Amino acid sequence: MSEPTDTHRDRGGPAQPLVIASDLTRHFAVRRGLFSKGDAVRAVDGVSFTVEKGETLGIVGESGCGKSTTARLLVGLIGLDKGEIVLDGEKLGTDLKLKDLWDDVQMVFQDSWASLNPRLTIEETIAFGPKMRGVAAKDARRLAHELLERVGLAPARFAGRYPHELSGGQRQRINIARALAMKPRLIILDEAVSALDKSVEAQVLNLLADLKAEFGLTYVFISHDLNVVRFVADRIMVMYLGEVVEIGPVDAVWERRAHPYTAALFAAMPSMDPDHRTEKPPLAGDPPNPINPPSGCRFHTRCQYAEDVCAARAPKTCPVGDIASHVAACHMLDPQSGHSKAGASPTLVLEAAQ
Ligand code: SF4
Repeated sequence: MSEPTDTHRDRGGPAQPLVIASDLTRHFAVRRGLFSKGDAVRAVDGVSFTVEKGETLGIVGESGCGKSTTARLLVGLIGLDKGEIVLDGEKLGTDLKLKDLWDDVQMVFQDSWASLNPRLTIEETIAFGPKMRGVAAKDARRLAHELLERVGLAPARFAGRYPHELSGGQRQRINIARALAMKPRLIILDEAVSALDKSVEAQVLNLLADLKAEFGLTYVFISHDLNVVRFVADRIMVMYLGEVVEIGPVDAVWERRAHPYTAALFAAMPSMDPDHRTEKPPLAGDPPNPINPPSGCRFHTRCQYAEDVCAARAPKTCPVGDIASHVAACHMLDPQSGHSKAGASPTLVLEAAQ
C-alpha cells in the first residue's frame, strides 16, 4: 500500500525528541454568574515534557487535570497563552506553521460518533483530508480502501456505508484510518478506547500497536484507565490541576510512584484480589477549583503528608531513585525543602507516599 510516512520529514534524527513542550500555559476566561471579570480556569499551567520519536507517552489524571487541554494545545486546536511547542526541532509559530503541524500531528477523540460527518460515506470520510491536500480523487479513494483494509474493515463491505451503520468499535477504526490518511508522525489518542466494550477495546489497542510498528508512529495516549496506559505506554505523565506532578518510564512509576497524588491514583484502581481491596478512599473530595488553585503544592489540600511548607512554596521537580528520567514534584523528595520527611531515603519517601 502507499507509504504513509515520509522519511524526509525526520528532520532532526532519532536523538531529537519529536515534541518538546515547554511551559505550556492555557487559561480560559470566565465572565459569568458568581465569577468576576478577569477570573480564568487555569486549565494548563506551565506544563513541560518531551515526546521521543517512536514512543508512547501516556498522560493520566482525574477529570479536569488538564490532560485533554494539553492534547488540544499539541495539535493546535487551541492556542497557547504562553510557552512553546517544538516539533522535530522546529518551533511552532516561527519555523513551523500551523498547517505544517497538522501535516504531522493527528488526533483521535473518545466520541467516535461526533468525530464523523453523518452525511459522508466511510470512503469519503477517509479520502476527504488527502483530497483537501491536493491528492487526486482516485488516488485518495484508493488510499481510503487500503487504509480500510489495514484497520480490519473490508472495503467492499464498508466503503459505501455511513457512520450510523457502524458499531462504536468500527467507527473508531474509521477515525484511526482517517488520521492515518494524513500520513502523521504523531497521533494523539484522547480517551480513544474509553467508550468501547472491553473485548473491542483490546482489539483496537492491538491494532494501534500494529499500526505504530508498521508506520513508525509516535503516540500520546490519554486515558483515565491506568491498566490500559500500562499496557500501551513507554512513559507515563501524571497531571494534577493543570500541572505535571510526576513523569517517568511506565515500569519505574508503577514500582516507585513517588508523588502522593500518583500513589492515590494507583490506589484507587479496582483490584480483583480480595486480599488487596481498598478499605478507605485513597483520595478525599473533589479536586479544588481550577479558577483559584491552592497555593504552593496544588495537592496540599488533599495530601495526607502536607506540612506548612507545602502551602507556602511550590515544590521543585526532583529525581526519584536512580532513574534519571523519573522525576516528581514533591517537597518530600527535595532534601532542601524543609519538609520533615525530606532527605529520607527514597524508600522511606516512597513508603510514605503509598
Ligand atoms: Fe503532599 Fe507536600 Fe508533596 Fe505536595 S509537596 S505532594 S502537599 S507532601
